[in-house]
Amino acid sequence: MPFYNLSIAPVPEDIVEGCIADFVTSEGSWRWNLFGHHIPHNILLMIAAVKPPDAHSGNDHFYWAHSPFGYFTAKSTYQQLSKNDLSHTNPCWKNLWKWKGPQRIKMFLWLAGQGKLKCNAELVKRHICTDATCPQCDGGIEDALHTLRDCFVVNRIWRELIPSSDYGSATNVNAMVIDVKSRAEEIHRVFDIFDINKCKRVEKYFGWLPPVWLAYKLNTYGACKASGLASVGGLTRDAHGGGIKGFDINIGMCSITKAELWGMYHGLILAWNKGIRLLIVEVDS
Ligand SMILES: [Zn+2]
Repeated sequence: MPFYNLSIAPVPEDIVEGCIADFVTSEGSWRWNLFGHHIPHNILLMIAAVKPPDAHSGNDHFYWAHSPFGYFTAKSTYQQLSKNDLSHTNPCWKNLWKWKGPQRIKMFLWLAGQGKLKCNAELVKRHICTDATCPQCDGGIEDALHTLRDCFVVNRIWRELIPSSDYGSATNVNAMVIDVKSRAEEIHRVFDIFDINKCKRVEKYFGWLPPVWLAYKLNTYGACKASGLASVGGLTRDAHGGGIKGFDINIGMCSITKAELWGMYHGLILAWNKGIRLLIVEVDS
């Protein structure tokens, strides 16, 4: 988005057509005096957390923002397009996707979930036939629920699976499948609780370990408040835990991942400027 779309004050003609490089000093910092008073404060904080372009960092290249590695993938595109679509939050679809079995049965279950099984009620709706009666029992309209639950032919199978007192409490096929699955999970959980070996607690000590002789270690952190304001810090230590050099910087507004990377970046610059060439880097996450 062009800067002038965000501007809160008239933008001078000479910078309206400027590119990003025009807003960076020769030392590689943002030229805040040029645009700082035109942009809202929260946007300035976000810009502060972005490293200005640098001619020595190589050519620009395309980056796909919706996948963690910057490559385009159909999966990340689908997730981006469907993130506001709440229909996929129905647990029925997740259960179906994870179900291990023949693809044709998975497709059958998917059609059942969609209410698109080619039963007579559906065929009448599409003007393919005129009689919606069930040919198995002659006793009801053959819709998806009748075909899979209520018809006496399948009724006998369900009664083998579900106690008679509970049979019929499920109001649709999805609820019935979830009901059966939850019973199986409940039994599994009970066995897990009594398997004390699985729950055994193991205590481990984590602490700072010194680097090898002559090397330094850099430990950095990045932190974000609920407001989005981020800060980074870190310090370098030699093999004896001495020679400490540190930093603590507010970097503006960004994600926690970006803050961690900023912490590492500032730590590496600190170490390099102090003449450290043998360095081990640890981040806190
Ligand atoms: Zn029937």
